Amino acid sequence: HELRTPLTSIRAVLGLIEEGVVEPDSDEAKELFQVARISTDRLIRLINDMLDLKKIEAGKMEMLFEDIEAGDLVNDCLRSLAGMAEEHKVNLVAEIEGHFVIYGDRDKTTQILTNLVSNAVKFSPENQSVIVRVRPTKGKTPSKTEMVRFEVADKGPGINEEGLSKLFEKFQQLDSSDSREKGGTGLGLAISKALVDKHNGDIGVYSTVGEGSTFWF
Ligand code: ADP
Repeated sequence: HELRTPLTSIRAVLGLIEEGVVEPDSDEAKELFQVARISTDRLIRLINDMLDLKKIEAGKMEMLFEDIEAGDLVNDCLRSLAGMAEEHKVNLVAEIEGHFVIYGDRDKTTQILTNLVSNAVKFSPENQSVIVRVRPTKGKTPSKTEMVRFEVADKGPGINEEGLSKLFEKFQQLDSSDSREKGGTGLGLAISKALVDKHNGDIGVYSTVGEGSTFWF
């Protein structure tokens, strides 16, 4: 279904042009081409995300573990999302409680954090802040190894109980029309969870409808 919808829309545009219903160099055609281009972009995003997820699930995603300064990672990530935040008129704030070195894959950890922060920005009302916190926590392993907890808090619409239970599954867009409009594929959180699993970590969310959500890993 996810693949068929954009493909059907591209097929419809090509049909109209091919059958001469719409003149190729008319304004109407221009609009149709834009629809087809947006659908194509969506298909590419979907296919890339699906391939990524399959690769991680099959254990074929190469992981490069190294020491990473958690605060640096957050600051780099926020810098790369500054343009998007500005576009949405949302403030990005980092609250980093000290220096923590974590052992992980830098690109994959950045991908997880980027997904959470960009979701928070997409769902935030204008002129609100998205806060990214980093602090130490005890891990879930029996040895209770020190771990670092990343938190991304927004003041968006929040997520109800039904939504919370299926959020990390594939193709779950809670309000699909709204979320598709925001350019998502419904695979970001499933990919984030798979990447967190590869780090032997945990990911979760707490949320109050009407007040906001805090995603953590
Ligand atoms: P998408 O690529 O559609 O954003 P995700 O897997 O990242 O896919 O998110 C799945 C769905 O979870 C979103 O479409 C949205 O409905 C909901 N969601 C994710 N983050 C938030 C948030 N910060 N506030 C409210 N809803 C959210």
